[in-house]
Amino acid sequence: MAVKIAIASGKGGTGKTTVSLNLFHYFRQVLDTSVQLIDCDVEEPNDKLFLNDHQAQKIQTVNQLIPQIDTNNCTFCRQCVEYCEFNAIVVIPPAQFAEVNPALCHSCGACLHACNTPNAIVEQAHPIGQIQNYTENGELNFIEGRLNIGSAMQTMLIKEVIKSPTVNADIQLLDSPPGTSCPVVATVNNVDYCILVTEPSPFGLHDLKLMVDLLHELNVPFGVIINKSDNHYPEMDAYFEEQNIEVLGRIPFSTEYAKRYAQGRIFENIPKDVEEAYKEIISKLQTKVCYYA
Ligand code: SF4
Ligand code: SF4
Repeated sequence: MAVKIAIASGKGGTGKTTVSLNLFHYFRQVLDTSVQLIDCDVEEPNDKLFLNDHQAQKIQTVNQLIPQIDTNNCTFCRQCVEYCEFNAIVVIPPAQFAEVNPALCHSCGACLHACNTPNAIVEQAHPIGQIQNYTENGELNFIEGRLNIGSAMQTMLIKEVIKSPTVNADIQLLDSPPGTSCPVVATVNNVDYCILVTEPSPFGLHDLKLMVDLLHELNVPFGVIINKSDNHYPEMDAYFEEQNIEVLGRIPFSTEYAKRYAQGRIFENIPKDVEEAYKEIISKLQTKVCYYA
């Protein structure tokens, strides 16, 4: 069983993608272990932009089962409407109208359970997105989820992406969506460890606190990486001390490195101090999670 490590941040723009990619790179380089990177930021998956050596393999369509009402059999009793917690069903008996709104349906199945009329309501598959596997030198080590435009089923797709690897690895790195909403919960729930990426600023601290509260609630162990650590923000350090939160490492800001990021050349000429910071983080992580290398 792979050790699962999520990389999350309370907000976008903290450098979560850069950290995920570098951890993927350094875990393999420093520990010589099998690592899979799983891009769970399904609305905006962009890890692939930096993994030029990877070849696209199997693509799998993920479907959502959405009930459909057959008005030829429906009695317009509205029992299904009463059961639907998401207000996804409209039934207007005088107009003999009955319909499910796919955008609101969460595929909970309650309406199917509620309906006693044979063949009045049946499930149909609707595609919500894809899971794409990528290999490097024949090894499956990168997986990406990509939500169809217009679909709101991020959480459902993320759960499928996390379940999807058919080839096991020692470590799986889950690049989470930003924020603290349901798609993030779906990513960080049940991982062995979570790395929170933040930046030393009032906004960074505010959103980090939300994420810390969430992880406490989910009972997920975690540590923090401070990105762009050159800014000094004493309130953040005071918070870590007060809450007894471990700082796994501080990544200094480099204009040159930021330029290479913008060009998609993240693994070229990594500045020495950035490299040292990641190697230190990896050795700290070794003491946090047990894996089979
Ligand atoms: S419960 Fe069944 S029969 Fe009643 S309105 Fe819904 S689909 Fe139609
Ligand atoms: S499956 Fe659930 S969410 Fe979808 S229409 Fe039926 S009761 Fe509503």
